[in-house]
Amino acid sequence: MGRYNEGPMDRILISACLSGRPVRYNGTDKYAAAKEFIARWQSEGRLVPLCPEVAVGFPTPRPPAEIQRNGTAHKRAFDGADVLTGDARIVEDTGTDVSTLYGQAAQDTVDYARRHECRHAVLTDGSPSCGSTFIYDGTFSGATKPGVGATTAALRNSNISVWPETAIAELDALLRR
Ligand code: SF4
Repeated sequence: MGRYNEGPMDRILISACLSGRPVRYNGTDKYAAAKEFIARWQSEGRLVPLCPEVAVGFPTPRPPAEIQRNGTAHKRAFDGADVLTGDARIVEDTGTDVSTLYGQAAQDTVDYARRHECRHAVLTDGSPSCGSTFIYDGTFSGATKPGVGATTAALRNSNISVWPETAIAELDALLRR
């Protein structure tokens, strides 16, 4: 049994862009979104940063990508969970279908979280990988809708809880109980 099962310290999988790494599709980070908590968790040794997309081989910068209904599917609503089953796909704004790599990124992230004994993840909302309350609607118009990214869906399927950066204070309070 690893040392993290023996003490109170929970390790948190965190989107690398939230931890300050400039790995977003446009070469920026999201550190400002939750820096107060991130800095403290960093000093406590809780953080396990990962960018699922970069880890699977995408470059930075890279084209923006959104989740679209798969032509063979008839579900009214769809999100990253449907990417994992083939009922939706992830497409770059260039038209390139990147569903297979995003699916691989999702599974690799589950494996990584398990290896590092993370029961919780804080992931950047809105991303086709990391979104947990909303995603972009697939039209590349800036419109959003409720839904999750492919990595979030895979983590939740594996009983790892996923929190958006806007709920980081709630997770922090839970960890300190
Ligand atoms: Fe951040 Fe996740 Fe996008 Fe990587 S895939 S840049 S970690 S939101």
